[in-house]
Amino acid sequence: MSSAPPKNEPPKPSNFLRGIIERDLEAGTYAGRHFGGNPGDAAHHAAGQPDPARIRTRFPPEPNGYLHVGHAKSICLNFGFARDYGGICHLRFDDTNPEKEEQEYVDAIIEAVHWLGFDWTAGGTSHLYYASSYFDFMCRAAEALIGDGLAYVDEQSADEMRTSRGDFNRPGTDSPYRSRTPAENLARFADMRSGQLPDGAAVLRAKIDMASPNINLRDPALYRIKHATHHATGDAWCIYPMYTYAHPIEDALERITHSFCTLEFEDQRPFYDWLLENLARLGLLAHPLPKQYEFGRLNLTSVMTSKRKLKAMVDEGIVQGWDDPRMPTIFGMRRRGYTPASIRAMAEATGASKTNIWLDYSVLDIALREDLEGQAPRMMAVIDPVKLRLVNWGELFGAAHVEACSAPVHPQRPELGTRAFGLGPEVWIERDDFAETPPKGFFRLFPGNKVRLKYGMVIECIGCEKDADGRITAVLANVVPDTKSGTPGADAVKVKGTITWVGVHDALPVELRLFERLFTVDQPGSDELDFRAAVNPRSLTVASGFAEPALASAQPDDKVQFERHGYFVADRLDHAAGRPVFNRITSLKDTWQR
Ligand code: ATP
Ligand code: MG
Repeated sequence: MSSAPPKNEPPKPSNFLRGIIERDLEAGTYAGRHFGGNPGDAAHHAAGQPDPARIRTRFPPEPNGYLHVGHAKSICLNFGFARDYGGICHLRFDDTNPEKEEQEYVDAIIEAVHWLGFDWTAGGTSHLYYASSYFDFMCRAAEALIGDGLAYVDEQSADEMRTSRGDFNRPGTDSPYRSRTPAENLARFADMRSGQLPDGAAVLRAKIDMASPNINLRDPALYRIKHATHHATGDAWCIYPMYTYAHPIEDALERITHSFCTLEFEDQRPFYDWLLENLARLGLLAHPLPKQYEFGRLNLTSVMTSKRKLKAMVDEGIVQGWDDPRMPTIFGMRRRGYTPASIRAMAEATGASKTNIWLDYSVLDIALREDLEGQAPRMMAVIDPVKLRLVNWGELFGAAHVEACSAPVHPQRPELGTRAFGLGPEVWIERDDFAETPPKGFFRLFPGNKVRLKYGMVIECIGCEKDADGRITAVLANVVPDTKSGTPGADAVKVKGTITWVGVHDALPVELRLFERLFTVDQPGSDELDFRAAVNPRSLTVASGFAEPALASAQPDDKVQFERHGYFVADRLDHAAGRPVFNRITSLKDTWQR
């Protein structure tokens, strides 16, 4: 996808997931089921009330890093469906892997989902869950499978297991441990659990079909031994469930109806169903069971959406942290100035499809502009300043005179009032608003040309001053009398160009951080390419500019449109009264050129 829906027209994204939900609601697939008030097994839910939620979805991050724009897509889908169809969306931490997970990430994920505008509290109940709190049930379910002859403890080496699994062209072969009796397996599983075996000495495997064309059904691992401290359960466990075993159970215990995941899990779906149907038959889980549906991942051009690679960017110092404004993490985007509404609009506009999509990054910028256009106050700022001296100022008004000027805070919203600033004998203008010898079609300042200082007066350029190296140190102009904006006859002198400016006497010095794409290619980190080679060396420019005095009252996170230059936000970490720091979110139109 490379274009956004046209303006003023609500997006009509193709979204086959909505179709699935609507079909289930119509058929009453999940009507009349009970919910025990919180997650639990079949008996727990049977004893509960009819479920007030028409559907249940979940967003299940692993707390092993910060969320990125791809996760935002999944959050918007899952929470959005729950909102739209009278359902409830759970936030569930898939914290079944003790080694990579940390409380820091749990806290950051909660903050990010809230910031995006979603909540998991419904009817006074918080549906925030941790997969690690289901470890007891998962172990009980494993014992039930063993007892039913559907799981066994395999003690082959990792190499042997890999070889005996076969591949796409070759069926697997049975492990010598596959024919152990349930009693032997139960005893050996108890040894695994009680810590008698070292890491890697044994795994619990499902007993399905070593010749299945779907390799995921060739006796997948359910539990492995890992003597590791878990961030939530401490040292209570030395065996941990595999993701493919844990995830379906988590969904079922929470009474999820629609379990949406990305395409790479498609081959896992048969195991998802195998596991849940067997556990339901054994009386552990309640019908109707959750169903898994896969949708395409969202990728944005010129950014990477892989926690692992983003972590490498942070660890190697390529960016300044997880919340670097160039990062496609939710915290990076927040700091850059993207609004929750713009991210939600982007997610909504892209729907859900059966293939992975590459979305042009500019779609996010378009959504941002649409969100801020109607709200951001306007202000003038000069990014690359050069001094403009008004030579006849003293003669016309007296050297110390400052002419009071004003402009609307927002051109379409008079109720927001006006902003005040002054025009004096010296003003800052953009260096590239002056040309000694103008290129064709240049309507701004060059000797002999007239322009209007926006909200101020018409001036006529008479030349410039240079230093020994030939660099321009000042632009010179004369004021054209009786041309002040808003006064009678001000428009009598016609000009082709209007430029923005700030008075030297009342300018507020401001640090401006200007960004370009972090990568110079559309798909960094695709397999053939090391993303490090594609880092854009010009992705950050820090400029010392000037802004209108009214900017002095800006608070961190405040957004503003600098006229002609784009949307900016006061940096949430570094901006302070007396030391303004603004990030450019995006320009006013798409100017990104490769
Ligand atoms: P990463 O590969 O970056 O670590 P992940 O998929 O492993 O991402 P999880 O924490 O497991 O990260 O993901 C939580 C949820 O977000 C999952 O349901 C996953 O499918 C979904 N998700 C992750 N990346 C994307 C993406 N690019 N587009 C849509 N959904 C995504
Ligand atoms: Mg993952």
